[in-house]
Amino acid sequence: MKVKSILLIGLGRFGRHVAMRLNEVGQEVMAVDHDEERVNKVLPIVTSALIGDSTDPDFLASLGIRNFDMCIVAIGDDFQASLETTDLLKELGAKHIISRACSDIQAKFLLRNGADSIAFPERQLAEWLAIRSSSDNIIDYFELDHEHAIYEISVPKSWAGQTVSDLDTRKKYGINILAVKRENRLDTSVTPKMILEEKDTILILGKRDEIQKIIDA
Ligand code: ATP
Repeated sequence: MKVKSILLIGLGRFGRHVAMRLNEVGQEVMAVDHDEERVNKVLPIVTSALIGDSTDPDFLASLGIRNFDMCIVAIGDDFQASLETTDLLKELGAKHIISRACSDIQAKFLLRNGADSIAFPERQLAEWLAIRSSSDNIIDYFELDHEHAIYEISVPKSWAGQTVSDLDTRKKYGINILAVKRENRLDTSVTPKMILEEKDTILILGKRDEIQKIIDA
């Protein structure tokens, strides 16, 4: 994997979680916050960290914005600061900017002012929780777009004991079985002859409404 160099601005709970995850996957992170305590807290898990105000054009310019593969604006509550930071990053030639938003209106402004994509942490978590809680049979959920998603679900009772080819889910529901989890081991080489067992969980990809029909059946 090519190591990316990432500028992360805003080290609240969300920013810190992003820093931790980036550290785990071996990316090079420069973290920035105007709060000294927050900067000190992330020091052990990032490549470098600086105290500074990201709405200050001179401070931001001194970071050499063009050299980062990605800039993440993880400021939440102070939308003015988030917008100004996004705008400045764009002006300074940032390659790819991901900005955090709390609402569609904020997302619209951020996209208009330089953001290439938007993260909606609260909304995405809320949706994930709501979908997971909607049925005991849903173990995990990952939205791909408004229509499609990957679900990890328990094998429906009526499917147990049948082969993947007998079930013919692609033709019947437009659903692909990507992997089978058996005794906590994920098998991604699903063959037509594979027999699904009641205790398995499966990772399926398809239209959300089609998958929902299977879960509700
Ligand atoms: P979270 O919701 O992630 O827990 P929070 O609610 O504690 O964060 P936010 O206002 O969302 O705080 O801001 C996230 C972080 O961004 C904070 O640590 C804050 O100090 C930092 N921050 C806000 N404005 C700026 C700025 N202009 N320059 C640098 N850092 C900033």
